[in-house]
Amino acid sequence: MEIQDYLTYLADKIPTVTAAVTDGSGQPLTCALDIASCSKNGIYLFVPKHTAFYQALSTRNYLSFTGIYQESPHIQVSLSFRGHVTEKSPDILSRLPRPSRNSCNLMKQENYNDSFALFLLAKATGEWHRMYPEPDTVTFSFSSGTDDQDYFFITSRCVLCRLCASRCPQKCIDISQRPARIIQENCIRCGTCYDTCLAKAIIRQTKPGD
Ligand code: SF4
Ligand code: SF4
Repeated sequence: MEIQDYLTYLADKIPTVTAAVTDGSGQPLTCALDIASCSKNGIYLFVPKHTAFYQALSTRNYLSFTGIYQESPHIQVSLSFRGHVTEKSPDILSRLPRPSRNSCNLMKQENYNDSFALFLLAKATGEWHRMYPEPDTVTFSFSSGTDDQDYFFITSRCVLCRLCASRCPQKCIDISQRPARIIQENCIRCGTCYDTCLAKAIIRQTKPGD
């Protein structure tokens, strides 16, 4: 199967997954999450707000999860993913492909987005595992969420608030000077800083040095 086939399998067959993050002291936190959609950008998940899990995820921006599907009485499959997440506006939901299964129960509820946030998992590794009858495992990775050609740069509009540095999963933003500076060698181009900066000081370019 191609990578997109695994994402489609997840969206269509596995409505709810068990996810884990670590809290500020490195202890694991788990939560059941609904899959909202899968697209070429990655995997969209609903995360309940007002929970310790949401707080930890918003800070750490890194998630792993596993879902299980019983294909038949004799075939059971698990799909696991781990990678970087960014919170997205629920406004984009209407533009995302809906899973072919009977749509997500959450989205049938009124005002569900008061209680649930939308996160996109991208820059991730995945593992498809058939548990029985014959164990088999396939691993793969995907880099999406932003165009791979995108590079991010901080401009003179930077007010050195440090917010981007606190959210950067790679800790690759140098805030010892203004404007802050992205250390491109370590950047995975996840776009979290771009989405985070309130001063709109971060620009996206298609090539380094453009
Ligand atoms: S979030 Fe924006 S303004 Fe704040 S330090 Fe980063 S680039 Fe500068
Ligand atoms: S795009 Fe690069 S600098 Fe910005 S948050 Fe992601 S890893 Fe950090």
